[in-house]
Amino acid sequence: MSRDQRLGAPRRGPNSFRCGHCGLDVSMRALGTAHRNHCPNCLWSRHLDDDAPGDRAAECGSLMEPIAVSVRATGEWVLVHRCGGCDTLHLNRTAGDDNALMLLRLAVRPLAQPPFPLERIAQV
Ligand SMILES: [Zn+2]
Ligand SMILES: [Zn+2]
Repeated sequence: MSRDQRLGAPRRGPNSFRCGHCGLDVSMRALGTAHRNHCPNCLWSRHLDDDAPGDRAAECGSLMEPIAVSVRATGEWVLVHRCGGCDTLHLNRTAGDDNALMLLRLAVRPLAQPPFPLERIAQV
């Protein structure tokens, strides 16, 4: 985290938003994405966009929980967010400064909680 703090606190206003989950002030500028829509610290988002990233067409405004990561054919990781208000699912590109530990925790969650006994795999 200190790597980011060295750049100075983000200015408040249209160029930043405050994370509704962990309270971090987040600069809208991000590596690898034109529309940062989630917190790089806790990865939570807010339901602001409707169909296209950045369209700000949704009236919901509820917090969106990161529930999983997926991998595109290009190798790019995408975050799966679920809205706590209306259950809408969104796919969001990860940013270059997203919390790697949080991303990995999401990635291994299904392996940590398998819906079947893992011993069964050894018998196949
Ligand atoms: Zn946050
Ligand atoms: Zn919503």
